Amino acid sequence: MGLGRLALTEILPAFGKSKHARPVALVSGDADKMSKVAQQYGIKASSCYSYQTYDNLKNNPEVEVIYIVLPNALHHEYTLRGARAGKHILCEKPMATSVKECEEMIAACQKAGKKLMIAYRIQYEPLNRMAQKAVREKTYGTTKLIQMMNCQNEAHDQQWRHKKALAGGGSLPDVGLYCLNTTRFLLGEEPTEVSAQIYSTPGDDRFKEIEENVSFTLRFPSGVISQCISGYGTFNAKSYAVHAETGTIKMDPAFSYNGLAQEREHAPGGKQTTEKPSNPGKDQFALEMDHMAECVRQNKTPYTPAKKAFRTSALWKLSISRPKKTGP
Ligand code: NAD
Repeated sequence: MGLGRLALTEILPAFGKSKHARPVALVSGDADKMSKVAQQYGIKASSCYSYQTYDNLKNNPEVEVIYIVLPNALHHEYTLRGARAGKHILCEKPMATSVKECEEMIAACQKAGKKLMIAYRIQYEPLNRMAQKAVREKTYGTTKLIQMMNCQNEAHDQQWRHKKALAGGGSLPDVGLYCLNTTRFLLGEEPTEVSAQIYSTPGDDRFKEIEENVSFTLRFPSGVISQCISGYGTFNAKSYAVHAETGTIKMDPAFSYNGLAQEREHAPGGKQTTEKPSNPGKDQFALEMDHMAECVRQNKTPYTPAKKAFRTSALWKLSISRPKKTGP
């Protein structure tokens, strides 16, 4: 659902690498575009829906899961309607733009007896999972400090991303969310303290309604401190470093669609060593969709269920108590 940039350039092509999922219907507000995409992917014209006819999906037994790839503020409405149509939902991040919406999405899917998974692709990506294993198994002793950043120079034509009503916020819920979620994923803990600073460049039209840069610090029950930054006005920087007692795990890039790389620095026998595990090069979207398909087939709870994502929304809302005026 939603034939924008992510759906056309990443998700639809990823079906080609998926073992358990295939596209059988489309939903879009642009009938011409949808017709071309349907032809390209072999989807029947009778399985193409508009936002108005979306609810008719209930009569299409071929559709088991709806993957919602719309602007953030629309995730809520189309999850509720999708659940009422009797379908499982895979929803893009961020889950919604308010905690109340998240609660209603969870309740609607529970009521319908359907699964609700949030598309945190990084948690299905092999190198990130290897990093998680090393942290959880204390391969380099106890983790003490984490640094994460996810920054990009957001294009001026990304209209809805600059509107608070459609995006919910700026760099934090869009890209900073990766820092928040990946820290929780690595540690398996929930933060007990959050503090944040926000700055938006005065006079930049992109940041009239939403924040540009956020620096936030999370403290966890084990004592780990994670320092995170998200930015909407700088060159790409998408990396992290996990600092443990006897080693450091670095991912750079950590959050891109492909080309992820890991380096581990430690000193076995006193000799400074750098190891670079090879990247299995799997498509993150295919892995994520296959996981959802397996959860449906085997009636399992997804690894990234709505309940975990709900915590994320609560946390980013908490850390974004925004001053009235931005700028110096
Ligand atoms: P996009 O702007 O390229 O596409 C959005 C689509 O929604 C377009 O087809 C547009 O026509 C449609 N739409 C319907 N109602 C709209 C409205 N009122 N205003 C604007 N567009 C409307 O956006 P995108 O980059 O594809 O992002 C879509 C979703 O995917 C967002 O929730 C975003 O956070 C998420 N996303 C996730 C990742 C990831 O790596 N998981 C990457 C990019 C985007």
